[in-house]
Amino acid sequence: MMETELITIPKVYSSTYQELQDAANEITARLDAARQAKRDEEEPRDRSDRNYASEIGHPCLKFLVHARLDWKQRKMPDITAEYRLEEGNEREWLVKKKLGDIGFELILSQKYYHLEALRLRGKIDGIIPLPRPVRGYREAPAEIKSINPQWWDGIKSIDDIRNHSKWWFRGYASQLNAYLFAADYPFGYFILDTFGKRPKIIPMERDEELWTHDSARIRQVNEYCERKEYPAPIPYDPGICGMCDFAHICQPLRATEYTEIPASEEEVLKEFLWLREFHEKYEEMKKTLIGDKNKPGRFWGVNAVVGSVVIETKIQQRTTYDVPAEVKAPYAKKQEVVITSIKRIDE
Ligand code: SF4
Repeated sequence: MMETELITIPKVYSSTYQELQDAANEITARLDAARQAKRDEEEPRDRSDRNYASEIGHPCLKFLVHARLDWKQRKMPDITAEYRLEEGNEREWLVKKKLGDIGFELILSQKYYHLEALRLRGKIDGIIPLPRPVRGYREAPAEIKSINPQWWDGIKSIDDIRNHSKWWFRGYASQLNAYLFAADYPFGYFILDTFGKRPKIIPMERDEELWTHDSARIRQVNEYCERKEYPAPIPYDPGICGMCDFAHICQPLRATEYTEIPASEEEVLKEFLWLREFHEKYEEMKKTLIGDKNKPGRFWGVNAVVGSVVIETKIQQRTTYDVPAEVKAPYAKKQEVVITSIKRIDE
């Protein structure tokens, strides 16, 4: 009789899916725990006597005063933000490596500078050698910024940074500009990076007007701090106050009544926004591929078959009413319209 060969099924194949998930959750929890342990080791830095160049572009003066007077109460970034910061640092390192590999190694990396008269402190990501002397300079300060892909296409020049709708981009200009004045360079460079794209290198000339504005604000902050007083809060802005590390002690007046929603709903809302991004891409492609009668796209009015794809055009008759405005006017009435939008806090 032939002996039956028994196959031992490894235990993992007989596990329930929940067990697999538990193991995955444990690995994730350990990733978080490693970051948490690092954070616990870090003591908050006493910064009561100085302003930081990376923050001077913040749109709220009260924030800048809190950053000095209440540094101990500053809210730490949550673990999710911790991963984002880590990613930024890793990307910065990668950009430096890419530049170094082709002979443009940044020097004086992370060197602090001080402007004692303003109590301003900052550091520059490095000084980049230039391929040839420019206005007599063989090198220039460079600030590396890792950019969310969402904003990548919209930033092509220093004006796009300087006038960006998001305050932290405008703050980048203030940060580099402060260094150009502190270290007396007439120009510098932004090196922007994002996932899977060629870095963008954007020159910035020293901006007198911006420096006059920023240094006047720093003086105001210094005066408030000396008097241990606070300026008035800005009108509540979810894009600024919603991201503020001092909102818990500032408690800015909210012009709008906010409804309490359980934190568990956040995932549903995030999924909605994720789908919206796809929808926006779909609408963009629809414009270029189909378009309409005023702006026909590549395949407007076409009938064709391409492999498994059919392009079909049907012509229908529709009745339209071209009613003169003076005939419509007596029927006009104002109605309350409720428009609710869901967007990211940093949009
Ligand atoms: S919560 Fe708003 S008003 Fe208060 S400090 Fe922060 S940004 Fe300024």
